[in-house]
Amino acid sequence: MSDTNLSAVLFKAKDLQLVERPICEPGKGEVQLCMQKVGICGSDVHYWQEGRIGDRFVVQAPMLLGHECSATVTKVGDGVTHPKSVGDRVAIEPHGVCRKCDACKTGRYNLCPDVFFLATPPDSGALARYHVHGADFVFKLPDNVSFEEGALIEPLSVGLHACRRARLSMGHRVLVCGAGPIGLCAMLSAKAFGAAAVCVTDIDSGRLEFAKKLGASHTLLIEKGQTEEQVAAKVAETLGAAPDRTIECSGAQFSVNLGVYATKPGGVFVIVGHGPSKVEFPVVSLVAKEIAILGSFRYINTWQTAIDMISCGKINVAPLVTHRFTLEDTLAAFETARSGVGVKVMIDCAKHEKK
Ligand code: NAD
Ligand code: ZN
Repeated sequence: MSDTNLSAVLFKAKDLQLVERPICEPGKGEVQLCMQKVGICGSDVHYWQEGRIGDRFVVQAPMLLGHECSATVTKVGDGVTHPKSVGDRVAIEPHGVCRKCDACKTGRYNLCPDVFFLATPPDSGALARYHVHGADFVFKLPDNVSFEEGALIEPLSVGLHACRRARLSMGHRVLVCGAGPIGLCAMLSAKAFGAAAVCVTDIDSGRLEFAKKLGASHTLLIEKGQTEEQVAAKVAETLGAAPDRTIECSGAQFSVNLGVYATKPGGVFVIVGHGPSKVEFPVVSLVAKEIAILGSFRYINTWQTAIDMISCGKINVAPLVTHRFTLEDTLAAFETARSGVGVKVMIDCAKHEKK
């Protein structure tokens, strides 16, 4: 029986269709993967709804969505030594890089100018039955790590990388702005790095309840009419002192100001959220407190760390999945993600025989 490659193709804004495409063969250094679970990210929803993110990433040709993925190896190309066995269960790092530039050679391949990144135009994604990927960006999952957890390694990696950028360490008090999937993953990562207390903010009380259940030691609702200075004082009161580290995961101008006012003098403020392309900073405070502000972009070498931390039980990402759909129901999955209910919508790409 010949297999087919049902795929979720975005033709243009608001035009997402399930179509059959040929199954590609793996080239040198690549593996062919039968996709298992693919999580929907806010960026997938943006491309679907608006056909672009800002002026830099514009959908100009049909592309697949999906970059939070796990899979099973179905074929191995020439020269691949790891993972080498058909049937291996794997998590996919959505990168492909040139391996030759300064960034790649100095270990900062997330900054490679020739980067390929799944589901970021002009690069296509992996929300399909089959996908071919560079074998060095595919990581074997131990038996006790599920395919859903494997797919969640992508947002978790954003949190892990932000904590590494922040040089977060044992005993730190931490402020995380925004309780979306990325803020929650930053919170889980900060705890795993040894934070003594993590306070998570949001404007949505439902998201804060979720953060609390997931393990945030404190939550703080941002309400209309409060100033950033007032909230900064509340953060210090809640944490027992001003945070050593702040990780911004909301994309809100308010949080950028709050990060500067709240972080303790000499502390580190890492910005992950993308809000408007230009934001303002309270520069006098920033200078007088010698706050180090750092950008954090995607991740570098986080997959194996994430797999090991999930496998040993020190990070539990599984509860992030609140809604599940099959590949055939991709449109309903995207509608659910767009509606903002729950936290992570997961699509099962495996073929289920009709009963
Ligand atoms: P999300 O939209 O699901 O979550 C953002 C959360 O911030 C929401 O819960 C929202 O209610 C909350 N929020 C809005 N205004 C706020 C305020 N004033 N104070 C506190 N919370 C507020 O998005 P997500 O998927 O969790 O991603 C978070 C951000 O990270 C986005 O801006 C996204 O573009 C960015 N991102 C960056 C990277 C990177 O590599 N740097 C990777 C992935 C996502
Ligand atoms: Zn490079």
